[in-house]
Formats: sequence, structure tokens, C-alpha cells
Amino acid sequence: MDSLKNMDLMKLMHDCDTQEECRMILEELRWPNGVRCPSCKSDKISRIRVRNQFDCDSCRYQFSVTSGTIFHDSHLPLPKWFAATYLMCESKKGISALQLKRTLNTGYQTAWYLCHRIRAAMIEVAPKKLGGTVEIDETYVAGKKRRWRAKNDAEVVIGIRQRNGDLRLIHAKDAKSATVREIINANIGSHVEVIMTDESAIYPWALDKMQKNLHKTINHSREYAHGDVHTNTVESAFSLLKRGIVGTWHKVSAKHLPAYLDEMCFRFNNRKNPYLFRDTLAKMIQSPNLEFKELTAKIQDAA
Ligand SMILES: [Zn+2]
Repeated sequence: MDSLKNMDLMKLMHDCDTQEECRMILEELRWPNGVRCPSCKSDKISRIRVRNQFDCDSCRYQFSVTSGTIFHDSHLPLPKWFAATYLMCESKKGISALQLKRTLNTGYQTAWYLCHRIRAAMIEVAPKKLGGTVEIDETYVAGKKRRWRAKNDAEVVIGIRQRNGDLRLIHAKDAKSATVREIINANIGSHVEVIMTDESAIYPWALDKMQKNLHKTINHSREYAHGDVHTNTVESAFSLLKRGIVGTWHKVSAKHLPAYLDEMCFRFNNRKNPYLFRDTLAKMIQSPNLEFKELTAKIQDAA
């Protein structure tokens, strides 16, 4: 699938502009070792060309390349799915549903649902724990005003970044030491060597004994860096996040924030991956369908 390497707009328009081309790409991504029946896993399959379907010779199940995936039952042509995926992979600060609606000439709800389904495929199911030198910092992003909350409503985001490695952005319910401790332990492994933070009072309480021995702090009221002691790399990720929230999505409600953070991290952690577009499509064709009802319920539950 080398044609999908370093995807650009011209290549996308040339190679992924018909239903048939997109279907062939999805087929290769879904079944790299040949078509298999999703029901009984048999590889004895007949292709029914006229209907773009497959017929399982063992259990007679009929299916298409999109059956049981997030592409299923979508009235949206596959080239629009591919274009939306490309745009979401390509836009460093993300793309809003409103922008996608205009770019792809779809309805708003279609664009919104599309964004969320692509975003859902971008979630790392079991991200590996970070080690080496890690920076931890907290930031506040302005959420949408909630009626029962005070005026200055801000959501806490904890950022953890391994130098020369991955980034995690986690929506925290507050910035108390106990909350931050849970987040640190879920994201930092025992192979951590140095932990850098600012002199905030949160961290001495949030770190355990072993982590405290590795802890170095920078006094931000005096300097930004002291030798290699700084939190600049996690802060640069925060500024990208804030530009995304302010510039692209305008405001993000608390219930949508974790999904946006995951999308941001996925793109950031894959910034050097020449196969980002292909890998995202592969995750989409391999993840189970996310029904509209399920998606909106999930988002409401998370609120
Ligand atoms: Zn079968």
C-alpha cells in the first residue's frame, strides 16, 4: 500500500476519487491476507461483482467490505469519507464539523457524525506508559459556560510528555494532588528516569517515593529553563491545543473535551509517521460500527 504513503491533496484526488478505488483500498486494509467471512472466518469466498458483495461458501453469509464497520450504513460516498479522514490527519490544529460541512458539501449533522466517528477510531486503546525523561504540567482551557457553574469556568488538562517521545493530554476533574497522582500512575511506567515539573505545590504530593527521587523542578517566576530542566516541550503541546480550541473549535464543552484531547495526541504522536492516513483508515475499517444513538449517548454519559 505504498501509494498511501505521504498522502497529499493531489494524490488523494487522483487515487481515492471513486467509490471503486476506495473500496479496493479498504479491502486491502481490512483483509491484508485475503478476504475472510466476518461471521465464520472462512476464506472460501465468492465475489459478487455486480453488487460489490461477497458470499461465504461455508455459511452463505453475504457481506461487503464495509459490513460491521464504522463505514456501514453510511449514505456518504467513500471518497468523502477518505477526504474527511485526510483532512483530520492533516490539520495540525484539527478541523471543525462546520468547516468539514463546507469543504465536503454535506449537511452539518453528517459532518459532525463523521468527525466523531473518525475521532473514535483515533483513540489509542492501550497506550504504552511513558518513561525516560518526562515533563508534567497542568493547564486550564476555557470550557463552555455551564449554567450551574461559576462564571470563570475552566477545565483542567494534565499534560505528560516524554522527551523525544509521546504526549498524553488528560482531562482531570480538578488539579488536586490525589487526582494528579492517579493520572501520573496511569501514564508513567517504572522505566521513568527523570520527572520535570514547575514548582507548583501539586507535584510533591502527587508523586510517590520512588518518583520523588527523580523529581526536578523549574522555578517559572525566575526562569524558563535551567540547563535541561524545563517543561518547554509539554508547554508547546499546550499552546498547540489552545490554538486548536480557540481557532478551530472555538469552545469545547467538558463532555467533548476528552475526545478532542485524544485526537490531538494521536496526531501529535504520529507527526513523523508517513503512513498516518493509511493507518487511520486501517483503524477505521477495523473498529466496530459506532451507531449515531450510541455515540450521542456516550457523549452525554461522559458529561
Ligand atoms: Zn462464513
